Amino acid sequence: MNHRAKKQFGQNFLVDEQIITDIITAIRPEANDHMVEIGPGLGALTRPLLKRLNRLQVVEIDRDLIARLQNEYPQGESKLVIHAADALEFDFATLPKPLRIVGNLPYNISTPLLFHFAAYAERIHDMHFMLQNEVVDRMVAEPSTPEYGRLSVMLQYRFQIEKLLEVPPHSFRPAPKVNSAIVRLIPLVADEIRIHNEKLYANIVSAAFGQRRKTLRNTLRVFLNETDFNFLGINSQLRAENLSVRDFEKVANYLDK
Ligand code: SAM
Repeated sequence: MNHRAKKQFGQNFLVDEQIITDIITAIRPEANDHMVEIGPGLGALTRPLLKRLNRLQVVEIDRDLIARLQNEYPQGESKLVIHAADALEFDFATLPKPLRIVGNLPYNISTPLLFHFAAYAERIHDMHFMLQNEVVDRMVAEPSTPEYGRLSVMLQYRFQIEKLLEVPPHSFRPAPKVNSAIVRLIPLVADEIRIHNEKLYANIVSAAFGQRRKTLRNTLRVFLNETDFNFLGINSQLRAENLSVRDFEKVANYLDK
C-alpha cells in the first residue's frame, strides 16, 4: 500500500539508509530509555529505534499513517505505543521521565514545536531533531551574526545545543526544497539557569527582536531608561542582535528585582 505524502503535515520521508544509521548512532538509544518519537511517519527511524529499545512511544497526527502503524504493531502486544495526537497539544508530562525526544520534525511547525518541548525541559534528558538547516543555524547562532535572533536566545538560556550533521534534500521522498540538519539539545541543569522570571525574559527578548534594526533604546523603552542601561553597562545604541544571552539574562533579572 503506497502512501501519498501530505504537504499539510510536512511529510518528507527519510529514505537514505546511511543517514538513518548516522542519526541512530548520534542518538545512541539504550534498551531502557524512555523515548518518544514525534511523527514516526512510515517508520524510517522507528524501526531501527525499536531494535534497540524495550519500549518506544510515538506521537503521530496523520490517521492514515496511524492505521498503518497499528497494523504493523498491534497495540497491547508490541513494544511500540502509538499516541494518535497533535504533538503541539500533546502533554509530554504524561510520559515517564527522564524523557528522550527524537524526530524528523514537520518543518512547517518546527518553531512552535521547539517552544512546546522547551516547556517540558525539566523532564527531558535530551532531544535529537531533524530540522531545516537554516533553523538549526539560528538555534546555535552567536551574537552579532545574521542568524542570531529570538530563537537562539530563547533556546540557549535553557539548552546546550549542538549541530550534528547536515542532510541533503535527496535523502528524503519527496525531496524538500531546502537542506536539513540534525541537532541535539540537552537541558541545562537547574543551577545553570540564571533567569528568575522566564515570562519577563521572553517578553524582553520578543520586544528587542520585534524590530531588530532598531536600537535597544527604542525597542526596550518600556522596560529601561538611560540610567538603567548605564547601571547594566549596556550601550542603548546597540541592537538586540549585539546582546549575548548573558546580557538578556542580566536585563531580565535586573527588572525582576
Ligand atoms: N519520521 C518519518 C521519517 O523520518 O521518514 C517522517 C518524518 S515527516 C518529515 C514528519 C512526520 O510528522 C509525518 O509523519 C507527519 O505526519 C507527522 N506530523 C506532522 N505534524 C504533526 C503533528 N502536529 N503532530 C504529530 N505528528 C505530526
